[in-house]
Amino acid sequence: MKYIRFIHEGAIRFGTLDGEKITVLDRSFLEKENLPTGQILTFKDVQLLAPVHPSKVVCIGLNYAKHIAEFGGSKPEDPIIFIKPNTSVIGPEAEIIAPAMSQQVDHEAELAVVIGKTAKDISEDKAFDYIFGYTCGNDVTARDLQRKDGQWTRGKGFDTFCPLGPWIVTDLDPNHLDVRAILNGKVKQSSNTHYFLNPITKLVSFISQVMTLLPGDVILTGTPEGVSPMKSGDEIVVQVEGIGELRNRIR
Ligand code: MG
Repeated sequence: MKYIRFIHEGAIRFGTLDGEKITVLDRSFLEKENLPTGQILTFKDVQLLAPVHPSKVVCIGLNYAKHIAEFGGSKPEDPIIFIKPNTSVIGPEAEIIAPAMSQQVDHEAELAVVIGKTAKDISEDKAFDYIFGYTCGNDVTARDLQRKDGQWTRGKGFDTFCPLGPWIVTDLDPNHLDVRAILNGKVKQSSNTHYFLNPITKLVSFISQVMTLLPGDVILTGTPEGVSPMKSGDEIVVQVEGIGELRNRIR
């Protein structure tokens, strides 16, 4: 099933997607009791938003060996986690604003995991029970500021630095998905989630032992090798197999 969040006639609404047919729901798909309203829309009637408005986006640094190699590091003992504020989240087709403070804004194509129910101290074998579905994410990074600061809050946290979407897919095996970044039509990143150093079940379990994950929270699972800078006017597309394409422009 595909789930979307969108604006229709000035209001934020939720729906399921079948081809271009949108079945409007009476409330968020993250709420148990949601029902179809009977209203049917198509893509041209709506503006897609990020499919969730998370309380936090928890990101994994260094989850692909070849991405670690391109920065000259070694595999961390524990997963490296950091947070992007929810004010960084934007939807498909929204503009990524390159901040004046930075001279190098990179794309990072990532599989995004959407949490479906409150998760605290979850074991790895129960992790899938807490996952609602998957979408595409771009962990946009001001690389020069990430290096300069020695920690990542500023470099990863600017407004518009977390494009998510275009929709959530629920029935998907996340362990063997191609992940790609395409900049102005040229493939820059191309890998597969089977190269993860830490599988998704481990990530959910590990993070849930640090902080409570709430419904709608997002885990960005790390980026493969091939990150590269973007400039104003560029179009960046994150593709995840079985999900679709998340398209944004830089300004
Ligand atoms: Mg990343």
